[in-house]
Amino acid sequence: METLAGYDRWDMMVSGDCDLLVVGAGAAGIAAAREAMGLGLTVRVLEARGRVGGRALTDPSFPMDLGATWLHAAQANPLVPLAEARGLELFDHDSVRSSRVWMGDRWATAAEMQDYDRAEGEWHAAVTLAAARGGVRSLRDAAPRGGFWDATLTHWEGPVIAAAEAGEIDLDDYLATLLNGTNLLPREGCGHLLSVLAEGLPVTLGAPVQRIAWGGSRVRAEGPFGVMEARAAVVTVSTGVLASGAIRFDPALPAGTAQAVHDLPMGLLSKVGLRASGEDRLDLPSFGGIERRLEPGERAMTFVAWPFGRDHLEGFAGGALAWDLAREGEAALVDQAFQELRGIFGARAGRALRREDAVASSWGTDPWSLGSYAAVRPGRAGARAALSAPLGGGRLMLAGEACHESLAGTLAGAWQSGARAAREAAAAVRRPA
Ligand SMILES: Cc1cc2nc3c(=O)[nH]c(=O)nc-3n(C[C@H](O)[C@H](O)[C@H](O)COP(=O)(O)OP(=O)(O)OC[C@H]3O[C@@H](n4cnc5c(N)ncnc54)[C@H](O)[C@@H]3O)c2cc1C
Repeated sequence: METLAGYDRWDMMVSGDCDLLVVGAGAAGIAAAREAMGLGLTVRVLEARGRVGGRALTDPSFPMDLGATWLHAAQANPLVPLAEARGLELFDHDSVRSSRVWMGDRWATAAEMQDYDRAEGEWHAAVTLAAARGGVRSLRDAAPRGGFWDATLTHWEGPVIAAAEAGEIDLDDYLATLLNGTNLLPREGCGHLLSVLAEGLPVTLGAPVQRIAWGGSRVRAEGPFGVMEARAAVVTVSTGVLASGAIRFDPALPAGTAQAVHDLPMGLLSKVGLRASGEDRLDLPSFGGIERRLEPGERAMTFVAWPFGRDHLEGFAGGALAWDLAREGEAALVDQAFQELRGIFGARAGRALRREDAVASSWGTDPWSLGSYAAVRPGRAGARAALSAPLGGGRLMLAGEACHESLAGTLAGAWQSGARAAREAAAAVRRPA
């Protein structure tokens, strides 16, 4: 059989039958397939794109991850032992982390950086206290205002980390999904890691599922590839894809599940990579972070310079800024990155960095993601549990990063959610009719 990167192409495979159908070959889908196969089920994974990995994608030419970058919460992250078992190097980013903050016309002094650290502790304490007191629904309403660093910290925790504006984030969910522990970087990229973990799985690429019929005793998936039938299905597409209606469920998803999809809109974090033109490294160390101190209402990109001593700089735009730039196209993100860097380094930035081979992510407009990861709407803290509730007695399971109640928005959360959904589905398959 002809294959693309080792996988089947849908045009070579018309229809079939298996125990478990997995929709999507991102972290959750790969984990679901591996778990189900480990339990002895026959599996088929249908993936719309021409590659595996979903929102983890490594551009090998830099190399640089355009999506997931860090293995967060390393101590509890199931991908850490899996990467280690395959001999993939994981680098402790926290051990070399350094950051500089631009104050508008100069870098923050050491004393100002100390003050920033202190303010960060106070900011978190204030947010936690506001949640404990009750009556506040969004992160914005809980976050302190008026302090010298408050707008910068709220911007960091909202758009930069959660990929959404603070006013769009449920306070309880924000606290439940705070990530603790070490942040590791796979040297060869998170996208590469997932492609290694997908090796040998029965994945069909270029197979977008357009309809899932789950009313009868079997689940049936239809698309341009034909028809696949199974005893159960795990659907791992993003809440953005679910909300878009790209997959028609028949019968429609129950009201509680549909409400959960609505309550988990996609945020957006975009990444850009700019390569050095020559030897100038802008006086930044390898892994040097750049932020800007912000006034209320201001927005900005952040940067990490020369990861692993490589010759590129990575920029991040989150929340409303990312959505505005996504609407204008990838070039707008590159423009914005240069504008930010010129504001700090002047004309030197234009000389030190090349425009021609810049790379930029497009998760916001990509029809198979429609965003980066989901944030819970204020007041809807139960949405993740509702989204992952078994349907049809476990014969239809939704899974993915949005379903995880503590590791949401991460590869680890997606992985665990996929594996959990596969176990539920396997139990349903084995239950006597
Ligand atoms: C810029 C960015 C930075 C990030 N940084 C980090 C980080 O540092 N660390 C971290 O842990 N996480 C990070 N994340 C989040 C992480 O990438 C996601 O949480 C995780 O990849 C989601 O996996 P998933 O399996 O839930 O979904 P996905 O990866 O989206 O997988 C779903 C799959 O379904 C496929 N699909 C969609 N529609 C259909 C259809 N109709 N039929 C068939 N297939 C379909 C998609 O193509 C996709 O492959 C980041 C994400 C982004 C975008």
